Amino acid sequence: MQHYALIGEHLGHSLSVPVHEAIFRHLGIQADYRLIEIPRMRFREEVPRLMAELDGFNVTIPYKQEILPFLRDMDDATRAIGAVNTVTRDGRGHNTDVPGFMDELRRGGIEPSGKPCFVLGTGGAAKAARVALEHMGAASVTMVSRHPQEEDEIDYAALDTAFSGVLVNATPAGMWPDVDGCPIRREALDAILRRAAGVADMIYNPPETVLVRAARQRGIPACMGMGMLIAQAVEAEKLWQGCPMPDDLVDTLTKELTPQ
Ligand code: NAP
Repeated sequence: MQHYALIGEHLGHSLSVPVHEAIFRHLGIQADYRLIEIPRMRFREEVPRLMAELDGFNVTIPYKQEILPFLRDMDDATRAIGAVNTVTRDGRGHNTDVPGFMDELRRGGIEPSGKPCFVLGTGGAAKAARVALEHMGAASVTMVSRHPQEEDEIDYAALDTAFSGVLVNATPAGMWPDVDGCPIRREALDAILRRAAGVADMIYNPPETVLVRAARQRGIPACMGMGMLIAQAVEAEKLWQGCPMPDDLVDTLTKELTPQ
C-alpha cells in the first residue's frame, strides 16, 4: 500500500482526495491519499518526518515556497517559478501546475502561440501560467496586478487599453463563495472580450465563472480550472508511479468530477 498526501495550512476546500482516489480506482493502484493540515509553527519539524514516511505528497498554500529548503533538487521550470506543488520519494520538487495548465489550454482550444498573453494576478498560479504560456510560444506575457511592482507588470487600468490576445485569470476573484465576482470591472469587460482570442480561468469552483460565461456567450474559446486541477494531479501521479497515464484519463475524470 502506497501513501500520499496534500500538505497545507487550511485544507477544508480541497478536492485533492476525490481526484487522487478516482485516479487510483481507474488505474487499480493500491494507495491512499489524505489531507494533512500543518500549522505554520510546526512546519519545520513535520516536513522531514513526512518526507521519510510518505511515497510522495502535494504542497499547497502557504508552503509552496517554504518547502524549497527541504528538497534535494528541482527541475528548471520549477526553479523558474520558485514554487513546488509536488514532491517525489527521492526528495525532488516539481511544479505540475505548468503541464496541468498547458493541458487545460489545449483542451479548451486556446492557442497562445504567437499571441500576446495577459495573466491576471502575481501569485504562484500566475507564475506557473507565465512559464506555460512562454513554453507554448506566446509572443509576450504581461502580468496584471492591483499593485504593479515588477517591470513586466501593469495595472488593470493599463490592461483596458493594452489588451489583445489571450487572457488568463490566476486570481481568486470569482471563486466560491464570491461567485458573482469578476477580476475585470463590468464596464471594461465587453471592450476587453472583443479583443480576446481565448480566456482561461484557473478557478474550479464554481464550474463556470462570470468571466468564462461572458467569454463563451461571445463565442470566444474559454476554459475553467477543473481540467487543470485534474491534469496537474495526473501529472503528479505520473511522477509518483513512474509510468505514463492513459490519454483519456483527464477527460474521463473531468466529466466524472465536474458538478452538473
Ligand atoms: P494567491 O497567491 O492567493 O493570489 C493570486 C494573486 O491574485 C495575488 O497575488 C493577487 O495579485 C491577486 N488577487 C488576490 N485577491 C484578489 C482579488 N480579490 N481581486 C483581484 N486580484 C486578486 O493565489 P494562487 O495560489 O496564485 O491561486 C490563484 C487562483 O488560481 C486561485 O483561485 C486558485 O484556486 C487557482 N488555482 C487553481 C489551480 C488549478 O489546478 N485549477 C491551481 C493553482 C491555483 P496582486 O496583489 O498582484 O493583484
